[in-house]
Amino acid sequence: MRRATESKDIMETTLNIKKIREDFPILQTLVHNKPLVYFDNAATTHKPKAVIDKVAEYYLETNSNIHRGVHLLSQKATSEYEAAREKVLKFINAKKLSEIIFTKGTTDSINLVASSFGRAFIKEGDEILISYMEHHSNIVPWQILCETTGAKLKVIPINDDGELIMEEYEKLLSPRTKLVSIVHISNSLGTINPVKKIAEIAHEKDIPVLIDGAQGIQHSKVDVQDLDCDFYVFSGHKLYGPTGVGVLYGKQRLLEQMPPYQGGGDMISKVTFEKTKYNTLPYKFEAGTPNIVGVIGLGTAIDYMNGLDTENLFNYEHELSEYAHEKFRNSFPGLTIIGNAKEKTGIISFILEGIHPHDIGTILDFEGIAIRTGHHCTQPVMDRFGVPATARLSLGIYNTREEIDYAVNSIKKVYEVFG
Ligand code: PLP
Repeated sequence: MRRATESKDIMETTLNIKKIREDFPILQTLVHNKPLVYFDNAATTHKPKAVIDKVAEYYLETNSNIHRGVHLLSQKATSEYEAAREKVLKFINAKKLSEIIFTKGTTDSINLVASSFGRAFIKEGDEILISYMEHHSNIVPWQILCETTGAKLKVIPINDDGELIMEEYEKLLSPRTKLVSIVHISNSLGTINPVKKIAEIAHEKDIPVLIDGAQGIQHSKVDVQDLDCDFYVFSGHKLYGPTGVGVLYGKQRLLEQMPPYQGGGDMISKVTFEKTKYNTLPYKFEAGTPNIVGVIGLGTAIDYMNGLDTENLFNYEHELSEYAHEKFRNSFPGLTIIGNAKEKTGIISFILEGIHPHDIGTILDFEGIAIRTGHHCTQPVMDRFGVPATARLSLGIYNTREEIDYAVNSIKKVYEVFG
């Protein structure tokens, strides 16, 4: 493999990262009088001007409720909302519009499946299989389901590099396993899981698979038909889109057998006091007024991504990540990177001997650098590696080598402060 340093500048110039940076107005912000260096992209990404303008334009020119209005603005809002569904369909290569459900985000999508799939298919003694590296939102909904049904949660272990132990995965699949729910890319370790292989193995035993794509959708080309997953979930705000909106992709065959998650307007076709007939997919799962502007903004974020050379951009992110890893490993003797999977994305979770991650985060903040410190909503991962917290840099499409160099120099200041 080409060393990250050898290809310096080539990718950055070809892709015109400078131009991409100009698309994100917030990157001009000063933090503590220093230019913002944003390395908290796994928590949320910034928004390009196109998305910000679309949100403003919607409120300035369209703002109306969808699906129920005969007036022009309502029809315009409806068609923009439904156009966003089509954009999502193409973006992840789903087969049908009925398979794209808008939710509040990844957490909401997983809760929807846990509740609805759970009511349809899970009973006492059944098993749900997750992994050790899950975000809390892919743990707790299943625990709630297990508490109410008497099902059991099983956990695939990970090795010291933060990779799934695939032999253990296969051993844990049993006739009682009713669902495998796995993260695509770990937010605290950066591990890219072999989700296609995971689905293939589960499907040999007719077990459906949910993929938590909260960190997958913005760093890789996702093709749900190729992955052959049964559910794929993600959040708009991690894909350079608005907060409060997300997607549940599900295979129609399963969605049809699942009862509604919530009741209310839009998810019905006929209501009487005796009996309610539910709406068809995807509306059966979209009760109440949705986050209309969020959905439309997500559509614009997808347009924005489609307008970029994403294949090369993902390679660029990968090279940037390798560059950052090399720099970090070579610059600090007391630094340990948590998560060293062979297949890894731009997440550098680390600890510095004798210095608390929060102190690292605070000192970097004064240098204008935004990182995240804590357990990253993956407490079992912290337990597995015997640390209470890590400091985490997570990369996005607008980050550069200069910013990594600046972070490395700023961490040297952390050492100076703490001797
Ligand atoms: N899953 C993973 C892997 C995540 O990184 C996150 C958020 O960081 C979530 C789930 C939850 O996403 P949200 O808070 O947008 O629902």
